[in-house]
Amino acid sequence: MKKQVIALLTAAMMVGAMAGCGAGGSDTTTAADTTAAETTTAGDTAAETDTEAEAEDGAETTAAIGGEGKVLVMATNAEFPPYEYHDGGDIVGIDVEVAEAIAGKLGMTLEVEDIAFDSIIPELESGKADIGVAGMTVNEDRLKNVDFTDPYTTASQVIIVKEDSEIAGPDDLKGKHIGVQLGTTGDIYASDYEADGSTIERYNKGFEAVQAMQQGKIDAVVIDQEPAKVFVSQNEGIKILDEALTVEEYAIAIKKGNTELLDQVNGALAELKESGELQAIIDKYISAE
Ligand code: GLN
Repeated sequence: MKKQVIALLTAAMMVGAMAGCGAGGSDTTTAADTTAAETTTAGDTAAETDTEAEAEDGAETTAAIGGEGKVLVMATNAEFPPYEYHDGGDIVGIDVEVAEAIAGKLGMTLEVEDIAFDSIIPELESGKADIGVAGMTVNEDRLKNVDFTDPYTTASQVIIVKEDSEIAGPDDLKGKHIGVQLGTTGDIYASDYEADGSTIERYNKGFEAVQAMQQGKIDAVVIDQEPAKVFVSQNEGIKILDEALTVEEYAIAIKKGNTELLDQVNGALAELKESGELQAIIDKYISAE
């Protein structure tokens, strides 16, 4: 079976990179007036690291929309730098700032819920969270269960190996032990190699896969490019192979059929693209090559 290129959606393709510039955009502060906002650091990145419990007090999750002062609950998995990760007691990253900016535009307060990556879609389906923002790639399978906004960035899967590895490209993954993060598009991609005698080891965190490779338990890790760059920069003796494996797009997942919220978030996202604010957030975390 041939490696599947993650199904790119025509819908997703339509929104190009609108770098846009201009209008000295507002900074990413949520208009967190009165409501529920927990005791957060006064910092502007102010990602609150709430767990689901807090989402309850005083805060109907949106579903009903446009609510000034309402809480917008973002489900994520904060193990995915630079999109979402722990920084001291906070959860920070591109996705958190984008979600903060969207919440700000909708007059809502963002709450971040850190859960397992493969729990995010169920969390949306059950209505416990409003938006899934987790470097989540749009694919056909997920579209059966959730709706996606317009994409906010593109991404790809890459291979990480030890510097002295004999693996030089995708073909060399055949028959090898490949580590992935459970339930990700890297998992989907790598699983195709099972037919070639490869063994897939699935970890809850991408970083755990990298550690396992360093301990010699697996031969390679397939993961999204930007987290890969972070992991490689933080660890000696490992490298990213040049050849990218897929082209993917990240978008925000929303409960199926909640078109009202979908439209609102798309509207906010379009404004952030147009003002250049989205690009500015990305540039803050990812330096141009
Ligand atoms: N982009 C990958 C996916 O959507 C990985 C996301 C993640 O691990 N947070 O499956």
